Amino acid sequence: MEKIEQLIKGNKEFQNLHFKKFEFEFDELVEKGQSPEILFIGCSDSRVVPDLITGSRPGDLFIMRNIGNFVPPFKKDNDYHGTAAAIEYAVSVLGVAHIIVCGHSHCGACESLYKVLPEGDDLVHVRKWLELGTITKNFVEQNFEGYEFSEKLRITEQISVIFQLENLLTYPAVKRKVEEGILTIHGWYYELQSGSIKYFDSDTLEFKELAHQSER
Ligand SMILES: [Zn+2]
Repeated sequence: MEKIEQLIKGNKEFQNLHFKKFEFEFDELVEKGQSPEILFIGCSDSRVVPDLITGSRPGDLFIMRNIGNFVPPFKKDNDYHGTAAAIEYAVSVLGVAHIIVCGHSHCGACESLYKVLPEGDDLVHVRKWLELGTITKNFVEQNFEGYEFSEKLRITEQISVIFQLENLLTYPAVKRKVEEGILTIHGWYYELQSGSIKYFDSDTLEFKELAHQSER
């Protein structure tokens, strides 16, 4: 069966099985609207499925996915900023209490930081977008010299998450709410090979198993 046919079949099954089971919850979400507590910023990678890996339900996560789970620094100009718009909407309209930036292992965006991409118009926006990873790549090259390439990639994926957290704080509303204590930002790292998630501990500057994190 072709993948697209699977989707059609999948939606029929969803309507008949899952939707019926949670009809009351879905009705409420339609009537009252959404009020998610969490903005999840993840990679567009098809293997990173936010709802699946966190057991989330409709209404739980406001999700922003892009190539490399990058957060561009705040820039007040007249351009089209999709990621920035999603952050602003989540923070200033929905009033989320948490923002998670979730990187992942074997990330193609992080790997491509070490490659030369073809010139020309076909990848003009990809090349520009990946410039957001340059600061991470430079940091890794300077501090992890001599590491095996695969190790370097895993380190790049994790360090990148930390730089994105810094960029989040360039958004005035994010910074203000974090300082007021009503918004918390989290750095996560999902491992494709195990399905486990690590979180960035800003006290020890390490990534630790999320399963071991105390309630906060
Ligand atoms: Zn990725």
